This record gives sequence, C-alpha cells and structure tokens, in this order.
Amino acid sequence: MEGNIKLMREDGLRLDGRSLNEMRPIKIQTGVVERADGSAFIEWGANKIIVAVYVREAYPKHAQNIDRAIVKARYNMSGYSVEERKRPGPDRRTMEISKVVSEALSSAIVLEKLPRAEIDVFIQVLEADAGTRIASLTASSVAVADAGVPMRDLVVGCTAGKADGKIVLDLSKDEDNFGQADIPMAILPRTGKVVLLQLDGDVTEEEFNEATSMMMDAMPRISELQRNALMSKYSIEDGE
Ligand code: UDP
Repeated sequence: MEGNIKLMREDGLRLDGRSLNEMRPIKIQTGVVERADGSAFIEWGANKIIVAVYVREAYPKHAQNIDRAIVKARYNMSGYSVEERKRPGPDRRTMEISKVVSEALSSAIVLEKLPRAEIDVFIQVLEADAGTRIASLTASSVAVADAGVPMRDLVVGCTAGKADGKIVLDLSKDEDNFGQADIPMAILPRTGKVVLLQLDGDVTEEEFNEATSMMMDAMPRISELQRNALMSKYSIEDGE
C-alpha cells in the first residue's frame, strides 16, 4: 500500500463518486447451482463470486470428528478474474482466505448437529475488484444456509480502510491498492460477535474505531440482502 496517489476528488467524494460511507451495490441470489446442496451468487460492485456447498460424511474416516462437522472452504480465483492473469492453483493468499472464511463460517454453524460430516464450501471468484474475501464469506454464509445446515446466524461482512488519509467504507480496487489501510471485518449480527478481523496497513486507534463503527452501521443493510435472497428463493418455490 502506498500513500501518495490521489484517491479523493476536489468535491470530497471518492474517485468512483461515492461518499465516504457509501457501499458499492450488492446483489445476492441463491439456488444457482443445481447439483449442490446449497449455493449463492454475489455481485458486490464489480466482484462476481459463485459459491457451491456440499454436505457429506467426511472421508477418509480418520479425518472425521465424531462429535461435530468439519468446515472446509476453498477460495479460488479464475485466471482472468483479475487484470493480470492469476496463476492457477493455491498460493499463500488463497490459502489464507480459505482459512479465515472456514473459521468464520465454523463460528456460525451448529457443528455438533452434524457429527462426522464435512461441509465443503467451494468459492469461485469469476471477477475480482477488491473485497473478495468479505464478499465470498457473505455469499458462503447464504449458500450454507441454503444447504439447510443448522446455523446460529448468517455471517455478514464488510470492509473499511483509509484512502488519502480518510476513513472510507467498502474499498474500491484503487483504494485497496493505493490507500493506507484495509480492514475487512465480519460479525454474527445477532450477538455482534466478531468472527473475522484483519488489518493491512496503518491506522491510529481513533481511525480504527471510526472504521469499525462505519462497518457496524453498514452490516444490517447487507444482512437484509442475505435474508431477502434466501426468502425470495423459498417464497417462489413455495408459491408456484
Ligand atoms: N488481486 C489481483 N491479483 C491477485 C490477487 C488479488 O489483482 O492475484 C486484486 C483483486 O481485485 C482483489 C484485490 O486485489 O480483490 C485485493 O486483494 P486482497 O488480498 O486485499 O483481498 P480482497 O480485498 O479481495 O479480500
């Protein structure tokens, strides 16, 4: 992250015309992969991500947990999802994202209800434009619920950061690349429990608090989109 590229306009808005606490548009859809137990597609700004969830008995047997399920999220970027072709296969970043998403989902799933099971969460990033880990987690949570897996809550996430010295919500690609900090966060909204929190860059304590409170304000709107996506799938199926 560098700090010397102009990311704010003269009129105080961001380069893409958003105000400091404005999100990019988000759309979530469920039931998009026929053979999966659950699935979701999310468009978050220019990010496009599809998630398919499969629930099965863990195999080989020695990998099973006799008293609870294992959650394995695998985050993968398509080669041409980014400007400069991404080499296929896992790298440090994709392994890290798979790990933090698996852990965050595990906090929301009632793992004891599915002993010996493995919940596979395949995340495919078709187009990436900053904030993919949070968009992936937000969509994965919907896909897991769509699979009928018992959950305490739907994990919801958001990103804030610092660009041109200002705290901004939902970083754009330029703000992510050239800003001074990137703070992805995810919570269980019912209790407010934080299940993912990362910080890349430099912020003061005051700026950190400003960023988290901006994200907390945005979370209910994203939660509503998650619930609407699940409800619209089931209401159409029930009603027709
Ligand atoms: N990115 C890229 N090539 C890569 C990895 C990432 O161009 O190999 C871009 C992509 O748009 C991604 C952004 O950099 O969304 C920021 O990546 P970061 O590691 O901060 O994760 P994210 O913000 O996507 O959760």
